[in-house]
Amino acid sequence: MRRRRAGAAGVLLLALAACTAGGDPVPSPGRSPAGAATSAAVSPPATAAAADAGPGATAPDPAGAPDPATPPVVAPEVAWADHGAVAPDAYALGYAGAVAPITPELAARMAPSWRAGCPVPLEDLRYVTVTHRDFEGGIATGELVVHADVADGVVAVFGELFALGYPIRSMRLVDDFGGSDDASMAADNTSAFNCRPISRGTGWSEHAYGRAIDLNPVENPYVRGALVLPSEGAPFAARPDAPGVVHAGDAVVRAFAAHGWLWGGDWTSPVDYQHFSTTGR
Ligand SMILES: [Zn+2]
Repeated sequence: MRRRRAGAAGVLLLALAACTAGGDPVPSPGRSPAGAATSAAVSPPATAAAADAGPGATAPDPAGAPDPATPPVVAPEVAWADHGAVAPDAYALGYAGAVAPITPELAARMAPSWRAGCPVPLEDLRYVTVTHRDFEGGIATGELVVHADVADGVVAVFGELFALGYPIRSMRLVDDFGGSDDASMAADNTSAFNCRPISRGTGWSEHAYGRAIDLNPVENPYVRGALVLPSEGAPFAARPDAPGVVHAGDAVVRAFAAHGWLWGGDWTSPVDYQHFSTTGR
């Protein structure tokens, strides 16, 4: 069952963004000192819109195209042309996002997470930006790299999470952590694509295909017996009722499930509370 967004809400949001935010309607991904480098490595909105607008979509006015350093977060009317599965109230609440191809600049930034021999070529990956809540009651823009086949669904899932008020600590590419899953997890960073083997095993992780997302890893650690990863997540291994902690059958799990994503918290051993994937692996 898919819900369709209200077109009027998108138009209103577009108008509000244009009226209130000047030439920079959406904040850069993340709030860290790495933000400057992030902004410089991404493509302009016109590129994102051109790549993802469906038939009949209107291209943005070239004269109004922002500086190339602006992140590829485009006006909702354009960005959401093919994203009919997002909760309508997410738009009314200020949700926005975009799907863009991997530009040469972004490919260079992704050197820690992608290399020749990885199972998915860069052409089949997408750069996704989404609005999310933080733990301080604010709103931020996060970034993910995922497989092209699931990019629209990811946009939809995070729209649901935004509407639910679910907080996300950090949402930056794993490349900002040198491609280290351990470092990304320790920073409570939500991430997706990383061309790496499965944890404590052999074979490619679903993350290497861009079909897995790790959500708030500290609040939702990987648990195998006495092993808790990241170690910072040890207080959450007992699954307290706390902000960001995902529980079986809760609204977060249902939001992912509604768009075809299965939860690692339903596994027996290991139990991977942070892990969502489209394959169930
Ligand atoms: Zn994972």
